[in-house]
Amino acid sequence: MRKKIKISLIVISFISCLSVYFARPNFYSFNLLRVEHLDLYCGENICVEDQNDFLALNLLFQETIDSIKAKGLENANLPYFVFCKSQTCYSQFGGRSEIAISFPWLGTVVSLEGWNKTIIKHELIHWVQFENFGPVTTMLMPEWFREGMAYSLSGAYNNQIPSHYREGVKMYKEMFSSK
Ligand SMILES: [Zn+2]
Repeated sequence: MRKKIKISLIVISFISCLSVYFARPNFYSFNLLRVEHLDLYCGENICVEDQNDFLALNLLFQETIDSIKAKGLENANLPYFVFCKSQTCYSQFGGRSEIAISFPWLGTVVSLEGWNKTIIKHELIHWVQFENFGPVTTMLMPEWFREGMAYSLSGAYNNQIPSHYREGVKMYKEMFSSK
């Protein structure tokens, strides 16, 4: 069932630019073309760096999908979620200082710190946004709305929200939380 495959992620400059710009407004440099190769173990929805982690992460991923389905949020088409154990893997797939990042059209990469339901839910909600609003529209949305929705609906505690997003999350909750 599990097989070792050589997977390639091509992060085109446009996507890299958008993702980097929106994730880190102060980070302006980006790669024109990034092609990376790593040996990963992949199942139906996830790829892992260390085969020993596959079963536990696959279970965590499926349980997280079920928990957002229970809230009426569903992803029709999911890309691979790549679970990196090492920082080398994470940065080779385009990650930097954040815990996890989703690249529209390509996939999601999750660092070791993000191996939990809250972070996986957060990234799944970004894929719900990509599917429902379109990737470009999503990335052009105001940050308070895009990230506010992801942090709010994933049930993140205040100390799990980076300080620069907290005001936006508060604004989203004030506007959309049921009274
Ligand atoms: Zn986010």
